[in-house]
Amino acid sequence: MSSENNEHRSVLILGTGPAGLTAALYAARANLEPLLLSGYQPGGQLTITTDVENFPGFPKGILGPELVAHMREQAEHFGAVVRDLEAATEVDLTQHPFVVTTDGGQLTADTLVIATGATARLLGLESEGHLMGYGVSACATCDGFFFKDKEVIVVGGGDSAMEEATYLTRFCSKVTIVHRREEFRASKIMLERAQKNPKIEWQLNKSVTEVVGSRENGVSAVKLKDTVTGEESEYATQGMFVAIGHVPNTQIFQGKLDMDDAGYLKVEHPTTRTNVEGVFACGDVMDPIYRQAVTAAGTGCAAAIDAERWLEANES
Ligand code: NAP
Repeated sequence: MSSENNEHRSVLILGTGPAGLTAALYAARANLEPLLLSGYQPGGQLTITTDVENFPGFPKGILGPELVAHMREQAEHFGAVVRDLEAATEVDLTQHPFVVTTDGGQLTADTLVIATGATARLLGLESEGHLMGYGVSACATCDGFFFKDKEVIVVGGGDSAMEEATYLTRFCSKVTIVHRREEFRASKIMLERAQKNPKIEWQLNKSVTEVVGSRENGVSAVKLKDTVTGEESEYATQGMFVAIGHVPNTQIFQGKLDMDDAGYLKVEHPTTRTNVEGVFACGDVMDPIYRQAVTAAGTGCAAAIDAERWLEANES
């Protein structure tokens, strides 16, 4: 069902990752009947990860999609309503109730909880864009299977790169991690796991300057530049996975809410209040530091409590 004109909610939540769903759980249990718009990636980034080993309460780990499915079921059990594949396209925060235009209609809301998360960052190379889906990918979990017995590279030096590279060794004959430095942002445990994996090789102090290939025949190599010596080389590979972090999904809030230089929404720590009264932000969209499922869930809880208190204080 899509939004109808003049539909009004006391709590409207944008996003259905762990932040949005936890906000929904708390708002629903406070009888606020929250409505959630899932956006175009229902469940958020957890739906494209594999095992989640660091969400408390699951000693054996849990699959990312399963974890968000449980969260959703729990929120819906208490009366939260989720609309899949409907996204906010425009917001007017200058009037109250806020007016939110979606690709299904228009809504008004007394409070807005923004939990729109973040999206994979890309290198920005023309060849990368041209070959995206033809040998270039930003999601090992989604596309790894297509690279069975092939040699691929993973770009990045953080936990995502280590996780994706380790995951890809299930399918690929060789996985090379290409990183622009010798130091890693990745946590020790994930770095060591990759280092111990015999299928993983390393190209350090290297950045990718071009992906060589065609849509017809896929990727055949990448051009690398040594970040220390400037030397250029070509490295044969059949696929490239980009795992270099994320950008917050805040485009529709540009000029309407305070954000930092990278586009993350600013909140009044330790609350989830933005600079507009009645608008709260939680999860990866406001967190450039921790970006974990459990921290997203934590700030989602805080946003619901902040919204509930705001409604109480401003009830007419
Ligand atoms: P990240 O920690 O920000 O690391 C991004 C990596 O990409 C860095 O090594 C960075 O290099 C590199 N990079 C950025 N822009 C680049 C560019 N234009 N060209 C080449 N390299 C570039 O991001 P992440 O790995 O996605 O992790 C984000 C957060 O999620 C972290 O808090 C992480 O712990 C968490 N996470 C956790 C798990 C888990 O525990 N299972 C899994 C995945 C992610 P520099 O270091 O040189 O800047």
